[in-house]
Amino acid sequence: MTTLGTPNTTSQTKLMLLGSGELGKEVAIAAQRLGVEVIAVDRYDNAPAMQVAHRSYTIRMQDGQALREIIESEKPDHIVPEIEAISTDTLVQLETEGYSITPTARAAKLTMDREGIRKFVAEDLGIRTSEFAFADTKEEFTEACLRIGFPCVVKPIMSSSGKGQSTIRDEAGMELAWSIAQDGGRTGAGRVIVEGFVDFDYEITLLTLKHKGGTVFVDPIGHRQDDGDYQESWQPQPMTEQTLSEAQRMAKVVTDGLGGYGIFGVELFVKGDDVIFSELSPRPHDTGMVTMISQNLSQFALHTRAILGLPIPAIRQYGPAASHVILGKGDSDSPSFQNVDTALKEEDTDLRLFGKPVVKGERRLGVCLALGGTIQEAREKASRAANSVKVVL
Ligand code: AMP
Repeated sequence: MTTLGTPNTTSQTKLMLLGSGELGKEVAIAAQRLGVEVIAVDRYDNAPAMQVAHRSYTIRMQDGQALREIIESEKPDHIVPEIEAISTDTLVQLETEGYSITPTARAAKLTMDREGIRKFVAEDLGIRTSEFAFADTKEEFTEACLRIGFPCVVKPIMSSSGKGQSTIRDEAGMELAWSIAQDGGRTGAGRVIVEGFVDFDYEITLLTLKHKGGTVFVDPIGHRQDDGDYQESWQPQPMTEQTLSEAQRMAKVVTDGLGGYGIFGVELFVKGDDVIFSELSPRPHDTGMVTMISQNLSQFALHTRAILGLPIPAIRQYGPAASHVILGKGDSDSPSFQNVDTALKEEDTDLRLFGKPVVKGERRLGVCLALGGTIQEAREKASRAANSVKVVL
């Protein structure tokens, strides 16, 4: 029997989001719909999920003491990390004290940087990945590139959305790639991963849901990335039965290895019949935003149900669907969006504007969603809608 309370009363069920971006905002909305009290935390004020939460805190989440203080004062029933840059050692400790971390503190710790999850998957679980090596210094980096061969891909171990990432075509490209990686990491200069370039036919996110009733898979999501940053995604990505079942097998091994309940975004490359593990988020995935139009239960609704221990009797997919990001480039502390009416004029389209208050450089500010008769039609519709929105900074 599951009991849920009423927000702002003594019966409350409290969910604390660590990270309050666009993905956290949708988890907050899904939780709000079930009368869960939502507390949003991030490093800056007025972050997207804070705008729909009951309360919010602005702290540096890598500061273990600051994190512990708000958790001890709020005593949430569920602590739900939305980003990697958190003091995961504090989460590990808090879990031993009885706090519930989604999906587990260990999963948050292993996926905090690219090294933990890559070694766990490739070395402990024996799952196929691209070739890889880690480097702290330029000398180690050069050696790693030469050993792995060209082309290869370099990424800071603490980075996301393609920041600091580049593909090196030949020896001459190493110098520039090293400096890009040193400028682009989340914590400034530091350790990088060098990966063999996978010349994949396509790449997918296999959303894998672990919940009280077992493990279920969402239909595979195909996506296109530019410089390591997601531009559009679609569902269902056509796959042979054999590749899909291999992808599901790998996703099950990895997510079982991490444990806990929640949704996992398992990123895989597919080349012919081969499936190669790329990386994983133990939480909703940006490319999974397409599920806000493609399914009866979005990845956010599924995550929330799994966290709360609720059943998931069926996930219904509505046919070809797509998402396309809206990016803003420049500097602003009050972005606005023109032609929103044009974006929504076609049938079966939808729009999310995240409400991010500050833009410095390039930032994802929204996403357009569409259903279509075919994947191509859905992609074109979502892209038309996204391109019709003019971001004014
Ligand atoms: P990541 O941040 O690791 O998910 O990388 C972002 C994107 O860069 C991926 O979705 C791929 O499109 C591309 N990418 C990353 N690693 C590789 C690789 N080893 N080979 C080919 N493409 C890659």
